Amino acid sequence: MSNYRHKINDKCAPLPLGKIICVGRNFSEHISELGNCFPESPVLFLKPSTSLVELDGQLKIDSSFGACHFETELALLIGKELKNCSEDEAMKAIIGIGLSLDLTYRDLQNKLKSEGLPWEKSKGFDGSCPTTNFISPNHFTNLNNIQFKLFINGKERQRGDTSAMIFRIDEILCYASKYFSILPGDLVLTGTPFGVGALTSNDELRLEIPNLLNASAKVSFFKGKQ
Ligand code: ZN
Repeated sequence: MSNYRHKINDKCAPLPLGKIICVGRNFSEHISELGNCFPESPVLFLKPSTSLVELDGQLKIDSSFGACHFETELALLIGKELKNCSEDEAMKAIIGIGLSLDLTYRDLQNKLKSEGLPWEKSKGFDGSCPTTNFISPNHFTNLNNIQFKLFINGKERQRGDTSAMIFRIDEILCYASKYFSILPGDLVLTGTPFGVGALTSNDELRLEIPNLLNASAKVSFFKGKQ
């Protein structure tokens, strides 16, 4: 188990670690790069709370399961219960904005997809959701206009903007809350933009929301037991 805790503005938030609701296929160029179909409604999947690790310093990845891809995503920290919520209730329940990596064992995911099996082993494994510190949504004038970036070894590799998402933040929360009660301490990851790829040992990652949030980590691989 990692010692991850949700932090808002660098202070531990008094919230449990909950589930992580993830949206797949929410940026059109990313759908094309993986050869997937455009969704009519948000594609949802879950990661368990045991997937959370702090995105700060070292990022340890078990290399036993093939290529591990980075997917940089905006992470919403939820502070109020949502069930069949309105768009207004959804926006008011967000108490933190951060960034996560939706780490994915891509070879394993492709194998599971081709066999029509669930993705969990490829996306919900221990440590598959490295997450930054959160900042209060008050720092943003408009949550539907947030830019975020990933740099690897100093080079920009992913750039996303919430204005380019197929499903907006409030639409995602309302839709997800029809199926899953969203509880305080849960996270919602809103999908990755174009540019996903495999991590390699010693990669230096830097994630940022320009002028507001910055986090970095160095990748190291291990095999099997740490
Ligand atoms: Zn993703």
